Amino acid sequence: MVDRLRLPSHGRIPFSVEFSPPRDAAAEARLWRAVREFERLGPAFVSMTYGAGGSTRDRTVRVTGQLAEETTLLPVAHLTAVGHSIDELRAMVGAYADRGISNILALRGDPPGDPLGEWTPHPHGVEHAEDLVRLVRELGDFHVGVASFPEGHHRSPDLDHDTRYLVQKLRAGAEYSITQMFFDVEHYLRLRDRVAACDAEQALKPIIPEIMPITSLRSARRSLELSGSRLPAELEERLVRAAGDGPEENRAAVREVGIEVATEMCERLIAEGAPGLHFITLNFARATSEVLARLGIELPAPLVQPV
Ligand code: FAD
Repeated sequence: MVDRLRLPSHGRIPFSVEFSPPRDAAAEARLWRAVREFERLGPAFVSMTYGAGGSTRDRTVRVTGQLAEETTLLPVAHLTAVGHSIDELRAMVGAYADRGISNILALRGDPPGDPLGEWTPHPHGVEHAEDLVRLVRELGDFHVGVASFPEGHHRSPDLDHDTRYLVQKLRAGAEYSITQMFFDVEHYLRLRDRVAACDAEQALKPIIPEIMPITSLRSARRSLELSGSRLPAELEERLVRAAGDGPEENRAAVREVGIEVATEMCERLIAEGAPGLHFITLNFARATSEVLARLGIELPAPLVQPV
């Protein structure tokens, strides 16, 4: 039986989290501490990224398989088309299916080396995420999600084209989208309106907002550079002030601003009827569980102090 995403859940807003495949044994131990903590908190699903250029292929498949086999969590495997022929993509989908994974986030990915560089598809691969959605759907009883971009994808000529391409991915069979991170809820609301104006039927599919609670200004800037999202000037000023002008940024002060802002954004998103909240965790449970606690979402008491 195919395990569907449990969206929306009953009575309370569902939340979900994004993990990345660990690079070494220490990172793997940290990931599993976060996994066990989230297992108790009850996310609707957990997603596992696929390293840029397919660099983490084997680790992504192995760890996502372990999530399916060894935890109570519902894993969503990211899959990108970068550097893969259609035959290889088919084999990847088969590898996920063999491990009991039926939820796939179908992404085109970015060029290896320079993520903002020229995109060249594999000569025997697919051109756009839309083609990958079709491919995965053809291969079996999979539930497929796609990426959406509240501020527009950096390669889209304008927001109208960007919206049209998203709607094409949904028409191709994607059941929901997860957004790129953003720091101004208006961007999310405008994306939702654009999709509704473009195709009322596809607009019924969940657009799940992705939230990144900022815990370090330096790492937030790096993530922003790759995402094409922007920090509103006022928030950037607050974070810069909190970071201070010492040789090391004041992580505690930055974190406090980051958690407060993420909580306020979530409050607004809940009020605006968002179908869920998807958190970038960087494989730590603490920041996300703090936001959830501040939102007053009922959570079981931690068994151990989350890290
Ligand atoms: P597409 O939908 O194919 O869009 C790519 C570009 O082509 C866009 O500019 C779009 O407007 C344009 N386009 C789309 N369709 C057409 C068409 N039919 N004709 C003309 N132009 C078109 N990257 C990773 O490497 N690994 C990950 O695990 C990962 N996870 C992500 C998770 C989320 C939630 C998000 C939002 C992004 C993620 N990314 C990941 C990044 C993503 O791979 C890049 O943003 C990539 O540049 C675009 O991927 P896409 O699936 O949106 O591609």
